[in-house]
This record gives sequence, C-alpha cells and structure tokens, in this order.
Amino acid sequence: MADEPMQDGDSQLSNDDITMAGPEAVTSTSNGAGGQGEEGESDDDEFPSSRPQHTQPSSSPDAAPSSPLDAGRISLKASDPEILRSFYQRLFPWRHLFQWLNHSPTPTNDFAHREFALTLQNDVWRRYMSYPTSDLMRKEMLNLLPSRIEIGPVYTTNPRDRKTIRNASAFKPIAKELCFDIDLTDYDEIRTCCDKANICQKCWRFMVMASKVVDAALREDFGFKHIMWVYSGRRGIHAWVCDKKVRTMDDQKRRAVANYLEVIKGGSQGGKKVNLRRPLHPHISRSLDILAPYFQTDVLATQDPWLDADRAAHLLTLLPDRPLTTALQNKWDASPGRSSASKWADIDAVAKSGASKSLDARQLLEAKQDIVLEYTYPRLDIEVSKKLNHLLKSPFVIHPGTGRVCVPIDPRRLDDFDPLAVPTVQELLAEIDEWKGEGGSDDGAAVKEEGRTNIQDWEKTSLKPYVEYFRTFVLTLMKDERDTRVKREREDAGGMDF
Ligand SMILES: [Zn+2]
Repeated sequence: MADEPMQDGDSQLSNDDITMAGPEAVTSTSNGAGGQGEEGESDDDEFPSSRPQHTQPSSSPDAAPSSPLDAGRISLKASDPEILRSFYQRLFPWRHLFQWLNHSPTPTNDFAHREFALTLQNDVWRRYMSYPTSDLMRKEMLNLLPSRIEIGPVYTTNPRDRKTIRNASAFKPIAKELCFDIDLTDYDEIRTCCDKANICQKCWRFMVMASKVVDAALREDFGFKHIMWVYSGRRGIHAWVCDKKVRTMDDQKRRAVANYLEVIKGGSQGGKKVNLRRPLHPHISRSLDILAPYFQTDVLATQDPWLDADRAAHLLTLLPDRPLTTALQNKWDASPGRSSASKWADIDAVAKSGASKSLDARQLLEAKQDIVLEYTYPRLDIEVSKKLNHLLKSPFVIHPGTGRVCVPIDPRRLDDFDPLAVPTVQELLAEIDEWKGEGGSDDGAAVKEEGRTNIQDWEKTSLKPYVEYFRTFVLTLMKDERDTRVKREREDAGGMDF
C-alpha cells in the first residue's frame, strides 16, 4: 500500500522553483496525489521520491547548494531547522504514524482528538496540539519544525477546543497506549563501562534483558499482543502497548500492571533492592530463566561488577550468614583483582567447604536469586506507565543530542540491535543523494524493471528496515481492529436477523 500514487519524477522536475522556497511552498506541492479524507487510498506526498537537486528546500535564497550531501549541511546540527525540514519532508513516516494512532485508514477521533506536544525551535513547549489527518499534521510540522514531538492521550473532545468547553470537567483523557520507559542512567550502580548519558554496546545489553523480560510478561501474563519497542535515541528504550483493551485502561489498572512488573525497589544509595516472597511468583521464575544466561556473560564476564573492593563489599551485604561473608572477605582480601565470575563461584565453594556451621542453604540460594535480579532485572521508570495522560516522545523523532532517529526495534532482532549503529539524520539525508538505484546504476533502470515509477526517499536509506517494521506493525494492528469491528457488526446484524 505504500507504493501507490505519487508524483512522478517529471512533475517533480517541473515543480522545482516552487519547492525551493520555504514551508509555505513545500505545503503547496504536497497535495499532489489525492486530498483529505483518503488516508488509506492515497499516499499523498509524504514520501516524495525526488531528485535531490530539485526538492531540497532552502530556508533562504542564499543557501544556494541544495544537496544535503553538501559538506556544509552535513556538518549542521541535528536540530538545525534545515535538517529538520528535510527530514520531516522526505523521511518521516507521517502516514504510518497516523494509521498507528488512528487504527484505521479513514480519519477518526482516535487521531483527531489525540494530543501532541511540540518542542519548537525557540524551546517553547506547546501542548494540546491536534490534527485531523496525517497530511495536515505533516504540513504543520513543516511549518513549525519541532525538535521534539511527544504523544499524549486521546481526549473526549478535540484538545484544541478544551478552553471553549463550558463544562471543563468534560475534557478528559480517555485512551492511550500503555507505555514503559527504561533508561540506562538508572543502571549506574550496576554498570561499570559507562555512566550518566553515555552508553556502549556492553551496557546496552541491560536494555536487551529488560525488553525481553517485560515483553514476555506483557504477552504471557496479560495477553497483550501489539507491543512496539522503540530506541529512545540516546540511552534507553520505550515500549508502546497498543492493544485496544489496553488503550482504554484507567490509571488504576495501569498502576496495577506497573506494580506487577516492578521488582527493583529502594533509593539509589546502597541497601537491598530486591525483596521477594517465596515461593517465587511465576513471572519472577520466568524472568530468572530469561536473565540467568545474561547474568553470566553480560554481567559477570563483561561488566565485572565486583572487581573492586567497594563494589565487592556491596555484594557481601546481600549475602546471609556472617561466618560465610567473613570467609569470603578474607579470601578476596588475599587475592586483589579477583574477577567477579570467580567471586560469584567462591560463594558456593566457600559455603560447601563448611566455613560456616550456621549456613542455611535455602536462604543462600534465595539471596543469590535476589542478587541475579538486582543485577539484571529491568529498572523501570514506572511513573511513565502509571498515568493515562503521560506524554512520551514519538517514534521517528530525532534525538537532538545524538542526531539518531528514535527507531522501532524489531523484537526478532533485539539481540543484534546496536544503538550506536542507528543512523543519524545527517547520514540519512546524505544517503538519499548517494543512492544510485537498486541495480547500482543511477539511471533508474533497476527501478523501472520492477514496474515502479518511484522509489520513496526512505527506501534509499538505512531507515528502510525500521520504516518497514513499523509499517508491518501498524498494518497488523489495524487488521486486528478491523476484524474485531467486522465480527461485532456481523454479530449485531445477526441479532437483528430473525
Ligand atoms: Zn557502557
């Protein structure tokens, strides 16, 4: 469906003088293939397939070189208006975003009453923005060039009209995806490779563990199906649970799910953070099964969290039985620099050596389970999950610091996902210009062979797999909602039929 009518190359060529101006001119060319109200049928112009020398917009007549490949542009910051305009015009998947939030190809209030919050170029934050269609949203984004777009809930009425409603309490949030936010800054106590906003492939493994545990619980324990994981662009991940029955959950239900998933508790300083009742809840047992292999490789071997004496001292505070911890302390004092894997193995070895007469084997096992969880279990920012009206950054927005796109992560490729390999907006714009056709030639022959007159700009870039995954996710969600609706309508009709 994404291959449908678009302007062909020729009409783009004839429009070059129009597209060279500012956002006004850009919008004037964007109705080329179909108008409003046909979101499912037409592709409007949201992915212009374009020869760069003709469509790269310039914010001023002086900005003569029109190619993003131009050295001057590639050095522009990700939040530069010119970069954002090119990105929103050529790469941002507006129509898929619309369908994702609208749950249907035809505009509904699911989209029209949805709040968007925009951070504008002057750092002004505008809340309660809303749009009837993806085309109108795209037009306004090309005008405003927000550095950040956040998604809020669907309201009882259009959020833009909230002040004109006589009864203010009639303006209420009624639906939103259930969201989870996991951020590596909450892992500073247990990661040794980086801290604060920094991340690397080593500590990213904590995000892999976190998403696997949360994903399994949401699917197996709650029966949710439409769960999308998104890289936040710098140091974390978001989950969007989009099932219809989830979207209408009230705050109380959201809190219940969040509390169910919360295991790591307590402040950021010291202390025991995992206190679980036995026998373990099946969710915790399953999580331990998922996490155990990661604990061996990514925690013990890679992070080596108890290498230095201070951190090893924390490990000892988590173990029961004074004679055992004293024996371990003596052993480790005698061999400075002993690895975390060895120290972990020492616990059982010393316990079995009979160093302690009072040791309770079950208590030790449980303490070790708690330690595995403390060093692997997801650290959730559960405030994000608890409230229907919480705002969360939209997928495909650019992180202003890193320039990376907030891309959805295909869960089947979770283990291989490398946040540092996610393309930056500057790289993507350069890729459009470098693209030489699928056969490697720049005459478009390979394209024509497939009977396609246009390749969309995102297809020419490394954004392609992410947009394709998003499209598949959205189509599956829409199909599910349509099937449910059709089934209900059939049942209704069946009831009338005598
Ligand atoms: Zn790291």
